[in-house]
Amino acid sequence: MNLIFLGAPGAGKGTNAELIAKKYSLASISTGAILREAIKNETEMGKKAKAIIDDGKLVPDDTIIAIIKERLSNSDCEKGFILDGVPRTLVQARMIDELGIRIDKVINFEVSEDVVLERLSGRRVCADCGSTYHIKNVKSKTEGVCDRCGGRLIIRKDDQPETIKERMSVYEDMTKPLVDYYLKTGKLISINADKEIEKTSLEISVALER
Ligand code: AMP
Repeated sequence: MNLIFLGAPGAGKGTNAELIAKKYSLASISTGAILREAIKNETEMGKKAKAIIDDGKLVPDDTIIAIIKERLSNSDCEKGFILDGVPRTLVQARMIDELGIRIDKVINFEVSEDVVLERLSGRRVCADCGSTYHIKNVKSKTEGVCDRCGGRLIIRKDDQPETIKERMSVYEDMTKPLVDYYLKTGKLISINADKEIEKTSLEISVALER
């Protein structure tokens, strides 16, 4: 089963991708996480992407497609995968089709702006392993410390209020048109993602098994 998780920043794509990937033994692929890792390791790609990501803009389509092509050739994708946060532009969606990458279903996370702002402003990530928390909804056992690896929890640079606004506007202009694109393929399943993680995740499972 090959899936795309589509939705605004803060819609819950990443958290649900982890849960659904575990439940159905799929590889969970986040281009954002791959790019953050490249920035941390100071690779050529990371150096080029850093300023773009910090500004809340989109990394060039050809960089994203190169990441996806390489990642999908990994053996852990054989049983299926979830593309979390990719495609984000019509060009990326068309390139995925042109590469012959089969997509079975596209989950569209519908979320209100208030919820997005609350989620992003309260989000904390581990500086070492990238695990995601929230100061109210997904607390770590010890404040400021990652449960998984003991790393320090920080605020993502692109979760600052000004950058959040830019990311929302980029979503409206560049990514939202993908809802129509996938609606036409008959693969789109829209879910209300304003709810708590467990409820959203259950709704996704039900939709996938239908
Ligand atoms: P995310 O973790 O999905 O919120 O992604 C963080 C940032 O990485 C985004 O704001 C973009 O700057 C960049 N990024 C991630 N995925 C893509 C993509 N598919 N296309 C372009 N830029 C991306």
